[in-house]
Amino acid sequence: MNAINQLSAKLPNPVRRLADFAYNYWWSWTPERISLFSSIDPGLWQQCNHNPVSLLNKVSHDRLWQIAEDPKYLTRLEKLAAQLDHYLSAEGTWASREVPEVSGDHPVAYFCIEFGVHESLPIYCGGLGVLAGDYLKSASDLGMPAVGVGLLYKQGYFQQKLNRSGWQEANYVDNDIENLPLLAVCNEFGQPITVKVAIGKRSVKARVWKTQLGRSTLYLLDSDLMENDERDRELTGHLYNGDPAVQLGQAMLLGIGGVRALQALGIEPVLYHLNEVHPAFALLEIARQAREETGLEFEQLQQVVRDRARFTTHTPVPFGNTFPASDISEALAAYMQNTGVSSSQILALGQLGKEDDQFSLTRMALRLTQLANGVSERHGHTSRQLWRDLYPQQPVEAVPISHITNGVHVRSWVAPLIGDLFDKYVGPEWAQSLTRADQWKRVETIPNAQLWHRHSILKARLIAYTRDRILQSRLARGEAQDDINAVARLLDPNILTVGVARRFSVYKRSDLLFRDLHHLTQIVAHPKRPVQIIFAGKAHPDDDGGKRIIQRIMEWSRHPDLRDRIAFIENYDLYTSKLMVQGVDLWLSTARRTLEASGIGGQKVALNGGLNLGVLDGWWCEGYRPGINGWAIGDAAIASLGNTPESDSYAQDAQDARDAEVIYNLLERDIARLYYKRDHSGISPGWLRMMKASISSIAPFFNTDRMVAQYVDQQYFPHTDVKTEPVAALVS
Ligand SMILES: *Cc1c(COP(=O)(O)O)cnc(C)c1O
Repeated sequence: MNAINQLSAKLPNPVRRLADFAYNYWWSWTPERISLFSSIDPGLWQQCNHNPVSLLNKVSHDRLWQIAEDPKYLTRLEKLAAQLDHYLSAEGTWASREVPEVSGDHPVAYFCIEFGVHESLPIYCGGLGVLAGDYLKSASDLGMPAVGVGLLYKQGYFQQKLNRSGWQEANYVDNDIENLPLLAVCNEFGQPITVKVAIGKRSVKARVWKTQLGRSTLYLLDSDLMENDERDRELTGHLYNGDPAVQLGQAMLLGIGGVRALQALGIEPVLYHLNEVHPAFALLEIARQAREETGLEFEQLQQVVRDRARFTTHTPVPFGNTFPASDISEALAAYMQNTGVSSSQILALGQLGKEDDQFSLTRMALRLTQLANGVSERHGHTSRQLWRDLYPQQPVEAVPISHITNGVHVRSWVAPLIGDLFDKYVGPEWAQSLTRADQWKRVETIPNAQLWHRHSILKARLIAYTRDRILQSRLARGEAQDDINAVARLLDPNILTVGVARRFSVYKRSDLLFRDLHHLTQIVAHPKRPVQIIFAGKAHPDDDGGKRIIQRIMEWSRHPDLRDRIAFIENYDLYTSKLMVQGVDLWLSTARRTLEASGIGGQKVALNGGLNLGVLDGWWCEGYRPGINGWAIGDAAIASLGNTPESDSYAQDAQDARDAEVIYNLLERDIARLYYKRDHSGISPGWLRMMKASISSIAPFFNTDRMVAQYVDQQYFPHTDVKTEPVAALVS
């Protein structure tokens, strides 16, 4: 009996189907999502971090019987259950028409070191994982069979706490795996399926779990088994471990173990897609399996791999994902035995030349995949420059790295309150055919007062949430009563609200606003046109530069002139992110040019009617319409120091000063003026015009339906022509 059946057996008969929802994250992107679980017990729902399995296991039997006897709840559940069944069995989907070669037996296998599916499944850190989760959701909606392959981290990333001096502390907390919406993957005899990978001299065993995202299955490897030694159990301990030996072990487990797990499950992927380079060792395992089947030689095997694998690069810098060559040959020695391939042949794949003592996973991935891509037009360009030395015969434009710009899973990120306006004014089918630009023109017809009102509700919700979180943090830190009372004055729903939520790292410059404290204070405390700012984000535990930025923001947020207008929410996660992107008026992004490969936070904001103020880099180079949907910091020109973040601190400082000045000027002269220019009914028609333009110019392109369709067309099957726009098989 699997975990779904066990849970279902515990539930009163009329609500048994709740177990199916609990184990399929489809619920998290249906418009009904708010009430299905939360109405069972709102407080417990929050305590459980919106994890339905945990909720249903913990809620009292009496309460379950109450809902089981509530005709309204049952009607709703019945309707949703019919929708889920319909969704899961829909035939004639977009993908089945366009790419029949992808099937349940031959899905696309999408490998990634992290997956951001939902806040209740803490196995993600940031944008890379969110992209991977959103990809699987759109693949499901479009009917394209896809399986994700990742690692199940016992502790996820880390929990961020800021101490009294504003310094970030990282806490590693064990996930309650028994209560996560995961199923142990078993064979026909009910035995857990396991895989083994030789890492160095050790044989590491991993078991396989799975969770459902609609029709997409996400498989997760877990090495926390008694049979493994302590060090190997740590391989799935937490994400982005700073120890290179762990990183290498994780990469081997994910890549090699992942391909083996699919084989053990009888899944023969039509293609393997590596989302960023961590799973690159999968390419060796694909070659090894092909050799067993065909007996081909190394040269020909490489071609087989190239035909079957695709690679998306996300790094905008040449360093990183590199290991000493000697570590690689040692780690791979046992694995490579009896494969007929020598250590030097393997090393050559990741080295620039024989003299190179470093092995770059990205070089190996580029050499073993025919089609590779960056994640925005600008990043495609940057990547061709970065890796041109791999293709010495070719001019830089011919370097075979194209681009597919990242998007977001709109149905997950649009606030239901806003989606409901789309239903009414854009049309009942808007969510099925996101890429139809013409339908989005109808956003114009949403009555101003309604859009303003709904946005105000979302903003008020964000502010209430922020106050609550900050109150909790201050209490936990044992702050002075004065500071605790001050939470009551923190933030005001009537004030122009800016959101800054990023990983904190020096190049992201999230403290740029504070360069001129005097100027910032004038803007923030303007008597008629005040501004307030909400920050959130973690710094990598080894990144003291990033931690210092957080500390300074915390310090400034206590400054008497700023303290009611600046808030930092601890422990940024998918839930905080959702509230922020749905509630802010303006999203600020300030990373140094060319270092933002794409960025997707600003896309989520735009879908909800927020505006962007950002450096022209990554996706914003493509999304920005001057005077229409937001503002740009400087122009798109790449300063010569773009790629070498630490090289020229003098020039960098000058650039930072210029960019800060631009932000101040835009904020006070353009942005705040427009926001506060109210008509007789108290709303700003100019701002609303831009809110609508933000939605209608960004939603049709910056979504993962378009992105998945483009992967299919451009990377997966470049020789077959995809003829139609992607259509999601939803049920309305
Ligand atoms: C969207 C998201 C990100 C990535 O946002 P960027 O703008 O690309 O940096 C990171 N973390 C969380 C929790 C998110 O929801």
